[in-house]
Amino acid sequence: MILVLAEHRRGELRDVTFEMLSLAERISKESPMEIASLLLGGERGFIDKLKDFCDRIIFVDSPELKNYSPEPYLEAIKKAIDATSPKLIMISHSSFGMDLAPFLSEKLSLPLITDCVDVSLKEGRLATLRQIYGGKIFSEIRLKPYERYLVTVRPGTFEPEIREKRSASVMEIPFQAGTYKRRFLEYIEEKIEDIDISSADIIVSIGRGIGKPENIPIVQEFADEIGAVLACSRPVADKGWLPKSRQVGISGKTVKPKIYLALGISGSFQHQVGMKNSKTIIAVNKDPKAPIFNIAHYGVVADMFQVIPVLKEKLKK
Ligand SMILES: Cc1cc2nc3c(=O)[nH]c(=O)nc-3n(C[C@H](O)[C@H](O)[C@H](O)COP(=O)(O)OP(=O)(O)OC[C@H]3O[C@@H](n4cnc5c(N)ncnc54)[C@H](O)[C@@H]3O)c2cc1C
Repeated sequence: MILVLAEHRRGELRDVTFEMLSLAERISKESPMEIASLLLGGERGFIDKLKDFCDRIIFVDSPELKNYSPEPYLEAIKKAIDATSPKLIMISHSSFGMDLAPFLSEKLSLPLITDCVDVSLKEGRLATLRQIYGGKIFSEIRLKPYERYLVTVRPGTFEPEIREKRSASVMEIPFQAGTYKRRFLEYIEEKIEDIDISSADIIVSIGRGIGKPENIPIVQEFADEIGAVLACSRPVADKGWLPKSRQVGISGKTVKPKIYLALGISGSFQHQVGMKNSKTIIAVNKDPKAPIFNIAHYGVVADMFQVIPVLKEKLKK
């Protein structure tokens, strides 16, 4: 069995759940096995949303599981494993999965491969693909035969579609919450004191290639002229050159503008997760091998400070 941990937050199932289920379908085509969704807490209505995508839904319900917290999650997952003996457990490589997976791996002695962009089971052995060196190189990892494997899957890598509609049966596992060292208290919304980049139509985004904060006005002026909002990659926000609310990526905002102009951004996967669904991506980078060019619709290999004046001139005309 392939056991996919359904990820939900604030009453919504996250897209990555369906992306993992479609990956599970592909794996089960090559190595036939049952596909199950593990739903911890959450709404009962999620069962309807999941049932076409898997053969079984394992539902463990408890107020302690409504919001993610590692200790009750560990207990519930252990119960699900005992009841179903899965060969492979999939968790999203989100902030939630990054916290949970190493904890599970250590407590349950499961071999773990994180941040996979592909997963297969060949003759019962796990093989995965990961990106290394900021996305420039793929590394294939094959594990020795083992009873059970744990992987985290990079969000946004697989289409959340299935070829074959299924009709899952539901298995409920009772859960008695214990006493935990940590517990969920509340979600704290970030105060929006700045521009909301996630609703902008045109974004000009700067990366470390900007060099120094004194160069930001050059780009800001250009962005103002074309009616764009200025955003950035994480190093720019980390240095405090632009507010954190302007950061695009896995630990920043997700944006989907009509135009995303990436200036001096290498295009790490953490950045791509936040912008790759932009309608048109234009990248300017000095390095022709920068991973941003893998997803850009238009690419310019050049110094951004030489490109900006040319673009300004062309737009004036
Ligand atoms: C848990 C975690 C979460 C993260 N979350 C995020 C996130 O949300 N968002 C994010 O962006 N990153 C995130 N990161 C960081 C990410 O891994 C990268 O380090 C980061 O995206 C790199 O930013 P960059 O492209 O600006 O810098 P670099 O990778 O240093 O790239 C700078 C690029 O600029 C080019 N360049 C330099 N000078 C010029 C010039 N004059 N003209 C044109 N091109 C030039 C270079 O060729 C290079 O490609 C996260 C990392 C971790 C571990």
